Amino acid sequence: MRILIVEDEYALADVLKATLQKENYTVDVEFDGEAGLDQGLTGIYDIILLDVMLPKMNGFQVLDALRREKISSHIVMLTARSELDDKVTGLDYGADDYMTKPFEMKELLARATWSSTSRTASSPAPQPARP
Ligand code: CA
Repeated sequence: MRILIVEDEYALADVLKATLQKENYTVDVEFDGEAGLDQGLTGIYDIILLDVMLPKMNGFQVLDALRREKISSHIVMLTARSELDDKVTGLDYGADDYMTKPFEMKELLARATWSSTSRTASSPAPQPARP
């Protein structure tokens, strides 16, 4: 499992990376939208955790560009804003999931595990269990 984190808050990116590495995921981090897009376009990632508010390109622009290039990574938008409008916008662009900051690492791991199994499952996967 290979995960790309695109997040310009260094502290959060660090915590995310450390948490995911502890679970044996291979993790790469980019700190702005352009770099995140370049990495995402390699197509090697199972999951992309994509912040919305990013320098150079915002997360929705990155998401849109990735989907136009037929990148099928499971994309989880990380947003500090919980407004419905953002969620609708992201879903229109082809996001698979959302997490509203601040979120629990436990929740992140549950979703990562779920998305890794749902990519290969033929039937609809259940939502991750809530604690
Ligand atoms: Ca940000």
